[in-house]
Formats: sequence, structure tokens, C-alpha cells
Amino acid sequence: MAKVEVMENILDANDQLAAQNRQLLNGKGVFLVNFMASPGAGKTSAILRTIEDLKGAIRCGVIEGDVASSVDADKVAAAGVPVVQINTGGGCHLDAPMIRGALEQLPLDELDLVMVENVGNLICPVGFKLGEHLRIMVASVPEGHDKPCKYPSIFIQVEAIILNKIDLLPLVDFDMENYHRLVRGLNATAPVFLVSATVGDGFEEWTSWLKGRWEGFKADLEWKNLASGVA
Ligand code: MG
Ligand code: ZN
Repeated sequence: MAKVEVMENILDANDQLAAQNRQLLNGKGVFLVNFMASPGAGKTSAILRTIEDLKGAIRCGVIEGDVASSVDADKVAAAGVPVVQINTGGGCHLDAPMIRGALEQLPLDELDLVMVENVGNLICPVGFKLGEHLRIMVASVPEGHDKPCKYPSIFIQVEAIILNKIDLLPLVDFDMENYHRLVRGLNATAPVFLVSATVGDGFEEWTSWLKGRWEGFKADLEWKNLASGVA
């Protein structure tokens, strides 16, 4: 079998399991958000801040994807949030089977939203569907404003961009106008939220947008249940 063909078959199997993950999640009324970023962009801090802001309104769980260690999962667990760690053992992205295993370990009946922290990598995570309802990118200003030119695929495929570490803007060479222009050249609709996860700036706008998406998901599910007479 040709190499290309093998790769297509792997993606096919992954897509099928991703669709099953989606079914499981819809059945439980749980919204799955896939956070992708380069290493060190601040995914874990952004996730922790988001959980804090949603507290009392939306019950969150987390799936932590890392090549090794449980450093990030420990931080999330310390915040009192249900969390499952996936160690890929060298693998550079999460896939649908890994997410299936993690979902089975989470108390889905007690959750409204699960955030997936993908492996830090701007290239292949976007190629693997997990069954998620929403794809988000966390970027950060020290990475520079030219990231959209270098990794167009992820910018094209996400529905929102959290631009983190804006408190460092005075210290780094980052052209905001240029960045917005480059992002818009690839993605006409994704909002860009300017935040600092450590300071806490800019999170209201992002979390209220996320809340809106979650409410839309819930409304959609209710409508589908009514339409199919399950209600
Ligand atoms: Mg992390
Ligand atoms: Zn990979």
C-alpha cells in the first residue's frame, strides 16, 4: 500500500472515532473545546483563568495532553477541577482514540464543558479531529507577529484566537496592526482576544464569547431533542 494511502486510512479511522466522541458528548450535553498552541504560549494559564471566570455558571473539566509529565494536570487538579492527563510518550498531537479514553475517565454527567489542552505544536494537531465542538488557538506576543505566515493552517482552521501575554507588548517586537492584517488574510471571522493570563487582563470578553458559544450549543441540542421527540 502506498504511504499516502496508509495516512488517509489512519485519518479515516480517526475521523470515525471523532464522530463517535461527538455523539457521546452531545448525549451528555457536554461542549468540547480544543486549545492548540505552540509550547509556552500559555495554554494552561489561559485554561485556568477561563475556569475561574466561568465558576458558578459552567462546570468545567480538563483533558491535558503532554508528551510527558503531569505538571499541567497537577496545576488544574489543584484548582479543584476534574482532570485527566494524557501522555503521548513522544507523540506530537492528540487524536480521537486518546480523547475517547480520557472522556471515559471524566464525570461527564457532572460537567457542562471540557477543555482539551493539546500538545504544544502548531503543525499537526489541527489535522486530527477529536470530536470537539470548537477549536481555539492560544498565541502569545513573544512568538512574534509573523506566526500567521509561518503556520497558516492553524490560523485558517480555528474559530477564535486568544493572544496572550499582552502585558509584554512594551518589551517585545510585535506589530499588532500587521498581526491583525495577517490573521484576517487567513481567517475572515475568528475574533482575536487580547489577554494576559497571568495578570488577568482581557478575559471578560473571551469568556463571555465562549459562554455564548456554549449557550448556542445547549440551545441547538434542545432543539434537536424536541425535533426527534426525545425531550
Ligand atoms: Mg500547558
Ligand atoms: Zn503530531
